[in-house]
Amino acid sequence: MEALLEVVNLKKYFPVESGFLKKSVEYVKAVDDVSFKIYRGETLGLVGESGCGKSTTGRMLVNLLKPTSGEVRFEGKDITKLKGAEEREFRKNIQIIFQDPYASLNPRMTVGDIIAEPIKINRLAKGEEVEKRVLKLLEYVGLASYHRNRYPHEFSGGQRQRVGIARALAVNPKLIVCDEPVSALDVSIQAQVLNLLDDLQKEFKLTYLFIAHGLNVVKHVSDRVGVMYLGKLVEIGDADSLYDNPLHPYTKALLSAIPVPDPAKKRERIILSGDVPSPLNPPEGCRFHTRCQSCMEICKKKEPELKDVGQNHRVACHLY
Ligand code: SF4
Ligand code: MG
Repeated sequence: MEALLEVVNLKKYFPVESGFLKKSVEYVKAVDDVSFKIYRGETLGLVGESGCGKSTTGRMLVNLLKPTSGEVRFEGKDITKLKGAEEREFRKNIQIIFQDPYASLNPRMTVGDIIAEPIKINRLAKGEEVEKRVLKLLEYVGLASYHRNRYPHEFSGGQRQRVGIARALAVNPKLIVCDEPVSALDVSIQAQVLNLLDDLQKEFKLTYLFIAHGLNVVKHVSDRVGVMYLGKLVEIGDADSLYDNPLHPYTKALLSAIPVPDPAKKRERIILSGDVPSPLNPPEGCRFHTRCQSCMEICKKKEPELKDVGQNHRVACHLY
């Protein structure tokens, strides 16, 4: 399989000033040396608790944030080094949809104008063609044409997410970063939006990075899944392999929290002790060691590398 995008040793450190009389700068290691590939046409799920670095990673892929170091190679080209016209040209390829589309939709513009904007900016159509394309995009996302002249506040959460998706689609992207696209929606609406994303993926041969909090939503939409903890990618593999045979103790704990309908497949619930440590000062060795029930001496000193354990499955843990 061909990688559409490859992330190589990606880091994002945010400086924070501390101290009162004597100021010093510390760094939040939001994303700390993460590498993975996204293959053409697949959906890669990326999960982890708040602050694990998944959204920061997503924002670096669309160039909304510049990495501290590392590369984001799109079709072989490092996009973090692009400037000016080349960068603008690139931006069309990767779009992002957010958890709360309301915050990213201009309240003073009609949804038709919101969708038309990227088409005009990128000169993808002219004159009447723009309007035709707007109506087509509304149709793709399941909104009737009379919605064209309405404003974002007149829509429900699910409809607003559809507008956000239409706007992302307007520039014919190859990859869409879906940053918790359904977590703010009612459960009954979530499935509709997920089905829509699935249909659009088939129709337009899209590739998705699907970011979510837990493994529950991601399970139904992902071909592969990556799990992040405190700025690190701790496990990544085919969705089936990861769900049937989770290896990292953190993945096991996340999975054990998902209710399963089949009692034979019921897992023992693993309750994680303690809170996620501060990313300002992450634990030495394995960052999960302060909460891991399988912690060994080596885990407190040596950081485990992401190791290939076969069948497209990699894990960062000294148990393997
Ligand atoms: Fe637990 Fe050690 Fe594996 Fe970290 S490396 S997850 S502490 S067993
Ligand atoms: Mg987030």
